[in-house]
Amino acid sequence: MNDSISFTSTYSQDNIFAKILRGELPNHTVLETSHCLAFMDVMPQRDGHVLVIPKTPAVTLLDLPAPALSELILCTQRVAKAVQSALDADGITLMQLNGTGAGQTVPHIHFHILPGSILGAKAHSTTKSSNEHLAALAKKISAEL
Ligand code: 5GP
Repeated sequence: MNDSISFTSTYSQDNIFAKILRGELPNHTVLETSHCLAFMDVMPQRDGHVLVIPKTPAVTLLDLPAPALSELILCTQRVAKAVQSALDADGITLMQLNGTGAGQTVPHIHFHILPGSILGAKAHSTTKSSNEHLAALAKKISAEL
């Protein structure tokens, strides 16, 4: 097996998720561990849309060292199960965009967890949800962890 990965993207500490990790911007946290942070997407494509990010700085999945990637996918699975229970979802969609050419808008790797299907969901990064609504959903999902 070839474990070599090309680390090509330059990471900027100015991106929104780096600021969230440093506590400089607020977020509605669902789960925080020593390796990852999961929080509500402010422009959810469906109710219960959660983002999961590693604490390791990396722009895309291709840049993330394997140990951090392993922790990230385990964290994503854990939160996805909680989203499924909290939203009573009959399916879970994971979405993960790498690079602007793929539509990535925040240059810190993240998984999107969406209850249900991407088909029929709201467009990416369009409609902001209220703080009260996001806080209530974060609480409901956290309770299932
Ligand atoms: P990407 O396009 O990089 O795959 O996804 C970035 C996601 O971050 C989008 O779904 C967008 O709604 C979300 N987002 C953008 N700015 C913020 C923010 O300040 N806080 C949170 N919680 N989500 C954000």
